[in-house]
Amino acid sequence: MPYPVGETGVPPPTDFDPGRVRYTPLFDKMYGNCLAANIQKALVPVVWLPTKAGTRIMFHPANGAAEQLRKVSEELDKLPAKFLEFLHPSAGSYNCRPIAETKRLSAHGYGIAIDIALKRAHYWQWTKPEAGGVRRWRNEVPWEIVHVFERHGFIWGGKWSHYDTMHFEYRPELLAAARQAPTNGIDSAQRANPPP
Ligand SMILES: [Zn+2]
Repeated sequence: MPYPVGETGVPPPTDFDPGRVRYTPLFDKMYGNCLAANIQKALVPVVWLPTKAGTRIMFHPANGAAEQLRKVSEELDKLPAKFLEFLHPSAGSYNCRPIAETKRLSAHGYGIAIDIALKRAHYWQWTKPEAGGVRRWRNEVPWEIVHVFERHGFIWGGKWSHYDTMHFEYRPELLAAARQAPTNGIDSAQRANPPP
């Protein structure tokens, strides 16, 4: 499932969940499996919103994840004040737990995911299905925030049919693939203004 970069891909088609499926052995190898080993000691602190919050988020340094989160944090820090309610307090990063009602490890267990805007978040499992079993996609997270994360290699859970709008996850391989194949949904703004 190609991840659609930019202001596309929402609401997502039914069961379209780009990046929600992870090849577990690869992620265990890259970041460590927290259920089997103590990966917490490998995590490094990232200052979250240096001038507006200054809290510390523990993140994995492998593959540049922590360094890219630091860039996200610095850019988000410069957004106008109206965005702060979505960004502070952040709603958690490292957490060694399986995905709800599964045995699969969440990206939070690898130290490569961060949640924001808990009070303005929408999650597919919190939404009652309508007639026909369809869960209506809902979101309040502004595009300005999504763009900053995507520029630095993070995908957004708001682009999943099984949506999780507070969730951002470091998946540079999906962003790189999308940028190499413009038909995969790169919007014109991103093409005219490619990320560094
Ligand atoms: Zn999350």
